[in-house]
Amino acid sequence: MFNKILIANRGEIACRVIRSARRMGIATVAIYSSADRNALHVEMADEAILIGEPPPRESYLRGDIVLAAALRTGADAIHPGYGFLSENADFCRQCSGEGITFIGPPASAIEAMGSKSAAKRIMEQAGVPLVPGYHGENQDPEFLRSAANEMGYPVLLKAVAGGGGKGMRIVDSPDQFDGALAGARREASKSFGNDVMLVEKYLRQPRHVEIQVFCDNHGNAVYLFERDCSVQRRHQKIIEEAPAPGVDTHLRARMGDAAVMAARAIDYTGAGTVEFLLDRDGTFYFMEMNTRLQVEHPVTEMITGLDLVEWQLRVAAGASLPLGQDQLSIDGHAFEARVYAEDPDNDFLPVTGTLSYLQAPAESRHVRIDTGVRQGDEVSAYYDPMIAKLVVWDEDRNRALRRLCKALADYRISGMKTNVDFLYNLASSSAFQQADLDTGFIERHHQEIFHQQPHDLERAMPLAALYLVLERSETARQVSHGNSDPWSPWNLASGWRLNEPHLHHFELIVQEQEVAISIEQQGIGAAQRYVIRYRDREVCARGDLQGQHLVADIEGHRLQATVAEHDGRYSLYSGDCAIQFSLLQPDLGESDGEPANNSLVAPMNGTIVAVLVAAGSRVTKGEQLVIMEAMKMEHSIRAPADGVVSRFFYQAGELVDGGAQLLEFEADE
Ligand code: ADP
Repeated sequence: MFNKILIANRGEIACRVIRSARRMGIATVAIYSSADRNALHVEMADEAILIGEPPPRESYLRGDIVLAAALRTGADAIHPGYGFLSENADFCRQCSGEGITFIGPPASAIEAMGSKSAAKRIMEQAGVPLVPGYHGENQDPEFLRSAANEMGYPVLLKAVAGGGGKGMRIVDSPDQFDGALAGARREASKSFGNDVMLVEKYLRQPRHVEIQVFCDNHGNAVYLFERDCSVQRRHQKIIEEAPAPGVDTHLRARMGDAAVMAARAIDYTGAGTVEFLLDRDGTFYFMEMNTRLQVEHPVTEMITGLDLVEWQLRVAAGASLPLGQDQLSIDGHAFEARVYAEDPDNDFLPVTGTLSYLQAPAESRHVRIDTGVRQGDEVSAYYDPMIAKLVVWDEDRNRALRRLCKALADYRISGMKTNVDFLYNLASSSAFQQADLDTGFIERHHQEIFHQQPHDLERAMPLAALYLVLERSETARQVSHGNSDPWSPWNLASGWRLNEPHLHHFELIVQEQEVAISIEQQGIGAAQRYVIRYRDREVCARGDLQGQHLVADIEGHRLQATVAEHDGRYSLYSGDCAIQFSLLQPDLGESDGEPANNSLVAPMNGTIVAVLVAAGSRVTKGEQLVIMEAMKMEHSIRAPADGVVSRFFYQAGELVDGGAQLLEFEADE
């Protein structure tokens, strides 16, 4: 076995590999770009080497520098993880050239599967079923079009060098063919430096079912069952599960045998995945083989009880596979949900930011979190925006799914948009519960998955109101007397008059709507309670706030909530309900009309759209002064009272940070 390995990767997979190596008594070396100086994988490894600048091309993709780091630290082997250098045959060869073991298949196997079309030719010869299509050399557009016409539409154009769903186009009819071909070629040459295309029949409602295979250097090969990865957005996986619902032992064995045949056809060693499209009628077709560990390998580990990284290390060190096919079995059901910094409402575009608050669900026998980040870390634009993989296991699919929903409900992240709510909606949808899976799942169930949750809002509004008022009062307590903190106008020392109601007004933006809330404070000491009014509702509440943790009593219903604030945006979590909100107007103080401060601040990061009055103008309470645009929505900043706007600090078109003072306001006496 190796004494020391270098992990040529970052993030969760680097941490994942380090964990197994450590358990096996193997020392680890991390590599890092200057953006990852304080990253978790660097902290976890025994040693770490700086390999360059943040862009992957200047660090994680530099095979020469990575190899030099391995030589410098005396590592016996390199684990490439996934992505980066993991499917780079040249790098694999260079490693062996330096006497360092590449933990993966031989370079020849990587090459054989590196081109989707070459892979298909090999598989065809080995008798593995293929999606009908053309995957030859002739790239003449007219020829390709006639091949498509022969197959019948819809067809799918795919870049032979493609990956990650790029360079693919669905073509529905002959007249769209030329435009789609040109577009796919442009994208492919930009992304992969290769615009060769294959054309295949586009299956209407296939499932993506893949088989985990493992081979050693002694002629042994097994399959570790299947994973269903049909739930995809932008042709990229988002929730995976094992075993695949509805796949019976007979189909499993047929697919498993085909996958092993595929691996044997290219003299494969180590961990690999053979991806198939499974059609409604049970026919399956080879799609491609990934010659590395997959992102979603944990679901296979959960149902087999095996550590695939340990197997990889053992096989790479020359050992035989630890188990034979008839010693392998499936126990229970597992899901993996990929938690991303991305905006599901904006076509799942990645977002960046600082993880200002991060609390993952508690890990247990049933819940596993694979991550490479901690609270306070940055999700930067340089790398994959995946925050974590949430993996759950239980005895059967229904139980495992309940675990998944619960764990998603317990996931607390703020500082950036994430797909956690989206994943929760998806996992708790009845269609997903019924395992009505295929690669069009998200589009087909868009309505159900993207639904707004009025239930959440109902439950969360009083909690949000209570939090705001308690938080203000806490801030006021901390501010010394006479200090006019603009955010704590409600100053206990000056404003308190016994037996008079105390009123607070907040305007929130929640679920893209403006909601005005008023909170009336009644009683003192132990009898203190709040009457919260919003829309046409009125609820009575009590509460206690300790830091971010709120214990509330809403009309006799005792609830707990956690609230995190970042950049003027609040995230409130309570049980399975989560809402985000921001403040449109700060608390305008007490009901006697006295404006509490003489400034108005931007409720969040955004752009000034218009300044509606001139500096020095006299305005009346409620008059629009400034329009801001943030989160693709316009927000009005209004006069808190009758008075004069003495100054504006921004003009139309300027960017402002949340919390920035926008204008100076002098209220009438
Ligand atoms: P990439 O390497 O870019 O991930 P794949 O060939 O693995 O591309 O395909 C990605 C996804 O695209 C599949 O999981 C499936 O959802 C869809 N897909 C690929 N080929 C077909 C096809 N012939 N018909 C229908 N969907 C397909």
